[in-house]
Amino acid sequence: MKTLQQIGAELAGYDPQALRADSVNAFLSNLVTAVTEVQQVDVFQALGRVLAADIISPISVPPHDNSAMDGYAFDGKQLLYSANLTLKVVGTALAGKAWSGTVAAGECIKIMTGAVMPQGLDTVVPQELTTRSALPGSSTEIICIPAGLLQPGDNRRKLGEDLMQGLPALQKGELLVPAALGLVASLGLNTVAVFRTLKVAYFSTGNEILSLGEPLREGAVYDSNRYTVFGLLTRLGCEVIDLGVVPDEPAALEAAFQQAAVQADAIITSGGVSVGEADYTKTMMKQLGDVAFWRIAMRPGRPMAVGRIKKSKSASKASQSSVDSYHKDSYHDAGSAILFGLPGNPVAVMVTFLAFVRPALLQMMGCSASTTPMLKAKSQEAIRKKFGRTEYQRGIVCQLQDGTLHVKTTGNQGSGVLSSMVRANGLIVLDHDQGDVAVGDEVSVMMFDGVI
Ligand code: AMP
Ligand code: MG
Repeated sequence: MKTLQQIGAELAGYDPQALRADSVNAFLSNLVTAVTEVQQVDVFQALGRVLAADIISPISVPPHDNSAMDGYAFDGKQLLYSANLTLKVVGTALAGKAWSGTVAAGECIKIMTGAVMPQGLDTVVPQELTTRSALPGSSTEIICIPAGLLQPGDNRRKLGEDLMQGLPALQKGELLVPAALGLVASLGLNTVAVFRTLKVAYFSTGNEILSLGEPLREGAVYDSNRYTVFGLLTRLGCEVIDLGVVPDEPAALEAAFQQAAVQADAIITSGGVSVGEADYTKTMMKQLGDVAFWRIAMRPGRPMAVGRIKKSKSASKASQSSVDSYHKDSYHDAGSAILFGLPGNPVAVMVTFLAFVRPALLQMMGCSASTTPMLKAKSQEAIRKKFGRTEYQRGIVCQLQDGTLHVKTTGNQGSGVLSSMVRANGLIVLDHDQGDVAVGDEVSVMMFDGVI
């Protein structure tokens, strides 16, 4: 396990006091490790979990060639480019009830969507493209297929065209989205191997922070960070351990950090990490672990602490009994927990979470793809931007009649203006090396949809 100093030494130009925002992900990626414990869970329980082993298809899907349409199946070799084709209907194949007879040249069978294609037949004409009549003096149906409409092989779904027996269907590290659950089920599998859920403890610090239910007093604000962090972690599929608002007292902070380190893989705090802080949060972080205090060239969210909080022997014993009764089968036993000490400002908490913490947590969850795709939109307004820092502005992306994407900011970009995060549907990410944005310039946007 590398120390923070070693990780920093490997990064070109690492300066904790003037850190480029675009170098934070690489640092954190070297700091964290993925969980290794694997659980076998029911498919219904697997949504949002991370696959712990490749799934090799035990069967092919579909398991046989079948019809993609309600219509008539026949041998496509009989299709002529310039002449209609007339066929006699000699039977019916239903979904789940195959036709077992033979079909000679000049014949076809009526077939329903999903029904097995009989031997020797490779083409289906949709019912609505045919004209039907009866053989004179009999009840036998005749169909006529107009020339030039079909190619041999049309409207037939081939065996294994979705998943082929023996080939990988899903890969280790994939996040199981609704489509993946369906895919697993299509293979007839009841359960899947997933990594255990990541446990994340969080608390808010600061003497001015009030818990809900406390009367408002002068100079104090209600704690909003615990609620946004709770929401972000829950959306990510983490097991959350809420440790409340912790007063600015060494004993209370030490107890909170140690309980968090015993119970969780990662700890998220908010507040108390800026330069001028008079409180004990930073002191306690330094005392209990290997922690770096950063000033990131970004806005909002300049100060941030990262590192590892050691799980002390006495703390583990002391909280072991409560852990046992509270989270018996989720007891965490690594030597330390990863610390993300976020700034206190409510928007800065969300921005640093989305930009840095979320990708790191996804890596800890065992997920192989952790970057959110960015989209490009034209700015509807001029945006002032300072060179030499990354700026994350709250943006509202909309699509104009001509299909182009445009974005405007939510107005006041203060790092305490949480309503800007509610009104926005994405973050406009303005690069470290870029300057002012003019009306009509393209900007990158990290969309919230599917993320928060
Ligand atoms: P700090 O990073 O501790 O200097 O806090 C920066 C600003 O964020 C201050 O105005 C704090 O009052 C505010 N703040 C800190 N923690 C919270 C919280 N949990 N909820 C709402 N505001 C907070
Ligand atoms: Mg503070």
